[in-house]
Amino acid sequence: MIQFVDVTKTYTNGTTALNHVNLTFEQGEFVAVIGLSGAGKSTLIRCINRIHDITSGTIIVDKVDVAGLRGQHIRQFRRRIGMIFQSFNLVTRTTVINNVLVSFVPGLPIWRKVTGIFRREHKIKALEALDKVGILDKAFVRVDQLSGGQQQRVALARTLAQNPDIILADEPIASLDPVTARVVMDDFKRINKEMNISVIMNIHHVEIALEYADRIIGIRKGEVVFDGITSQVTQEI
Ligand code: ADP
Ligand code: ADP
Repeated sequence: MIQFVDVTKTYTNGTTALNHVNLTFEQGEFVAVIGLSGAGKSTLIRCINRIHDITSGTIIVDKVDVAGLRGQHIRQFRRRIGMIFQSFNLVTRTTVINNVLVSFVPGLPIWRKVTGIFRREHKIKALEALDKVGILDKAFVRVDQLSGGQQQRVALARTLAQNPDIILADEPIASLDPVTARVVMDDFKRINKEMNISVIMNIHHVEIALEYADRIIGIRKGEVVFDGITSQVTQEI
């Protein structure tokens, strides 16, 4: 469903972060992208939803060339693709449920959205999303009262509330301790398997990648150096 055809990304300062990358992702896969810091993992993920524009080549998502999307079409496209960051990107001075409810308010900056008045049906959907990641009991707690792992689960619930086909996760467990990291990874795995949502995740913990992902993509200096099912991974990458 996602296809990279000869994709190169060179930033305006001259750094080539992706160098002639060819890849295909199928619906429902759990893919871990691994590699050293600076290898190009984050760039790879962020080109899919057009946070960055590529320099040459083509990225196709469900037969649509994403480079051609404009305005309203790009917003609709991004609603199908959830994004999870290392830093959670929540508004911490308000409640958990308000942070999830922002998924239903298109087009405002996030700090404006959390002060909005929300519809009852959206509140119900937000509570359902929180239930899916096991933190329904925290719905009316302020985000700054939660642990890092709980905050990442709020971010995951916010993404689920937009009903995505794909979740892109950029180092989602990098700031969590090992025990909490596994709790969050269990959520990703469950969402992937039970809801058939594709997960494409950058992760520098190789052992955790091997434990959870179905497929591993190894990136080095902007090039794909490994692409295979998890059981084929050997020491070299
Ligand atoms: P571009 O417009 O080239 O796609 P961005 O708008 O993403 O790039 O970033 C703008 C500028 O931010 C870059 O040209 C660079 O100077 C700086 N920058 C941001 N992140 C990094 C990074 N990880 N390494 C080096 N420079 C960075
Ligand atoms: P990773 O996620 O594997 O750490 P990145 O995709 O963040 O790698 O970075 C790949 C290369 O591109 C690095 O050399 C990084 O410094 C550079 N880079 C990343 N973002 C920018 C940017 N906005 N502007 C310029 N260079 C960048």
